[in-house]
Amino acid sequence: MLRTHTCGELRIDHKGQEVTLSGWVQKQRDKGGIVYIDLRDRYGITQLIFEEGVTESKLIEKAKTIGREFVLSVKGEVVERYSKNDKIPTGDIEIRVSELEILNVSKTPPFTIEEETDGGEDLRMQYRYLDIRRAAVREKLELRHLMMAKVREYLTGEQFIEVETPYLIKSTPEGARDFVVPSRMNEGEFYALPQSPQTFKQLLMVAGLDRYYQIVKCFRDEDLRADRQPEFTQIDCEMAFVEQEDVLNTFEGMTKFLYKEIRDIELGDFQRISYQEAIEKYGSDKPDLRFGMEFTELNDLAQGKGFVVFDSADLVVGINASGCAEYSRKQLDALTNFVKKPQIGAKGLVYVKYNEDGSFKSSVDKFFDQEALKVWAEKMSAKPGDLLLILAGEKGQTRNALNELRLEMGERLGLRDKNAVVPLWVLDFPLLEWDQDSQRYHAMHHPFTSPKPEDIEKLDADRGNVRANAYDLVINGVEAGGGSIRIHDRELQAKMFETLGFSKEEAEDQFGFLMGAFEYGAPPHGGIAFGFDRMCAMMAGEESIRDFIAFPKNNSGRDMMIDSPSKISSEQLAELGIELNQNNKS
Ligand code: ASP
Repeated sequence: MLRTHTCGELRIDHKGQEVTLSGWVQKQRDKGGIVYIDLRDRYGITQLIFEEGVTESKLIEKAKTIGREFVLSVKGEVVERYSKNDKIPTGDIEIRVSELEILNVSKTPPFTIEEETDGGEDLRMQYRYLDIRRAAVREKLELRHLMMAKVREYLTGEQFIEVETPYLIKSTPEGARDFVVPSRMNEGEFYALPQSPQTFKQLLMVAGLDRYYQIVKCFRDEDLRADRQPEFTQIDCEMAFVEQEDVLNTFEGMTKFLYKEIRDIELGDFQRISYQEAIEKYGSDKPDLRFGMEFTELNDLAQGKGFVVFDSADLVVGINASGCAEYSRKQLDALTNFVKKPQIGAKGLVYVKYNEDGSFKSSVDKFFDQEALKVWAEKMSAKPGDLLLILAGEKGQTRNALNELRLEMGERLGLRDKNAVVPLWVLDFPLLEWDQDSQRYHAMHHPFTSPKPEDIEKLDADRGNVRANAYDLVINGVEAGGGSIRIHDRELQAKMFETLGFSKEEAEDQFGFLMGAFEYGAPPHGGIAFGFDRMCAMMAGEESIRDFIAFPKNNSGRDMMIDSPSKISSEQLAELGIELNQNNKS
């Protein structure tokens, strides 16, 4: 037997028992007369002891030759330690070894396999199998597993069935580029990997499956921003005979269930906010509501007083940074530089200090007297000791910039509490979004999303103002999931494609299968998909999703361990009928 117990299992109650343990050597300490070895497996660490006068000297000699990450199987007696270690659950005992088998040796690992590692990101990825030996990474994968199990438990309980959909499909338009796979048997033709199983899950509703889910890989060939992976996992769901309210309730239920089961947090009913309100109050469609600091628009008070920056602006808007009136010149300069960073793009920052003595000091004193500033302060619910921060300019851009500043102030003031969980539904997204580059409308969610019935008539003349039956779940300022009630009527779907600039032929060619299915009795349906990797990270209160994925890719989309993507042989290429440029040939 290679083991009778795990390395995390033994306690003082096991004293006197003869046990066999197997695992990796975390550490070996040679104290002359005594050799200690910390033996690690997935479940924990147990100390082994080899002691002169007690242990056979041959065994002690053998123990001295053992290095980090060797794989051992040992037999011995559980004994009470002289000096206990209250940092680990097995810290009261140790194993007095009587037999030792080296199951395998190990090279010295390229980084330390401990809680805090000295390994850089790429090195850790290259030796991911060593990185995963670290408890910190392993625990994240264990959490991921638990999340999967709990998602399945909840959805199965709600009558959902998990159905697998194909990975070799044809392009689905979710707004990103497809990864494509050449077909050998159909030379010159390509499959695409799904950006999501969107059309398939809708077809399953036409097929009468009623409630579908799948924990599924999705693929998007986007430029990688930090914490985006080209392949990622969704909890993908669809329901038939539902309205928006049904979908929201079902998945609010799932989210509450997960937080309760996994973190023992009881979430109250989720707040709801319209897209429009989110943009006006927070400058973002995924506001972090762990804190307030809502926007106040000041156009009526600030314009027409001779300050050209305000007078020429679309929007003058500010936030109240409570308790910050004491900010120094240096601190204010830092905030100004923050908003002027190219990625934020404000031209400047106006501040108003509401001093403790009731007076005001601002960067626009020349244009606004104490009386005027007092009116601003009232509108922004400020009290003595507060600091008003104001931006002006084009609407969208100014709101974006103030959103960044709000988040920055939230951070500085410690208002974004890692342990708080504040979920909200963002509703009533616009159906369409104007794209400056291509000079046409795009579907904000995707082309299968239905317009609100009362807005359908605007599809011709007032497209920009059509609202969709679409919703996002946002938790702590992060988009956890999003979905919509779908179009299930062929005519409306065709109209949608036309609105998006598809010709009849293009629409038929790409989505004829779906529109065709709608002609055979498609039920009303809708659904949602959650970013599973991100949900796992959120559940752990972490920002990075990388360690919740066993084998992630780096920022250039490379798998550092298997060294992929890679060239393929000319034979493989020839078989696929693909010719590369001369200088790309392998
Ligand atoms: N397929 C959508 C997405 O991946 C989600 C949905 O509409 O259900 O974002």
